[in-house]
Amino acid sequence: MPSKEQLMEHWVSSGIIKDKKVIEAFKKVPRELFVAEERKEEAYGDYPLPIGEGQTISQPTTVMIMTQALELKKGDKVLEVGSGSGYQAAIIADIIGNKGKLISTEIVNNLAELAKENIKKLKLKNAEIIKHDGSKGYAKEAPYDKIIITAACPKIPNPLIKQLKEGGVIVAPVGNMNEQVMIKGKKIDGKIIEENLGEFMFVPLKGKHGY
Ligand code: SAH
Repeated sequence: MPSKEQLMEHWVSSGIIKDKKVIEAFKKVPRELFVAEERKEEAYGDYPLPIGEGQTISQPTTVMIMTQALELKKGDKVLEVGSGSGYQAAIIADIIGNKGKLISTEIVNNLAELAKENIKKLKLKNAEIIKHDGSKGYAKEAPYDKIIITAACPKIPNPLIKQLKEGGVIVAPVGNMNEQVMIKGKKIDGKIIEENLGEFMFVPLKGKHGY
């Protein structure tokens, strides 16, 4: 099992994570709070762990790659689709600071409750967890500087493209249910210009624009 420090050293020395804000957030947020009691010793294992309801908290390296791809800045307004444990939400909330705002949507009631509890424990006032079908986005708070989908999607849902600001970034695993490529999209002249960040595997997106 790697230690928290070993993971950070690996990301920095391999060049996988260059954004210091991402490393600082990883250092600060206690991942052990977000995994099940009986898997706490494995909190820094670099693999996904079950969080109930057949869902998983993504492996640390994946969370950091997605976070870095978002090009987060203090004061950003961010939408997350798929709160799960709330870990990714906590990392984003830490980076965007008090002037920023994170809205995180979760379709499964029990997981929305779990994420809410975890966010509350860390006293993150700039993060809000909402039980909602995030495949439709969340129009009430739109537009967003950044959007992240942490479940596999057949394609980037159109409402999310609409709710992204011009110049904004969306990060999402796109593909079939068994494998996806991580897409980093920038909205330029209303269209998404895509960059491929490699292959990943996520649980499927549900809801109106999911599978
Ligand atoms: N980001 C999470 C892990 C996400 S796992 C973490 O840090 O722990 C993917 C999550 O997306 C699951 O919790 C699943 O219930 C949720 N999900 C799937 N479809 C969704 C939808 N349409 N809207 C919101 N959440 C959804």
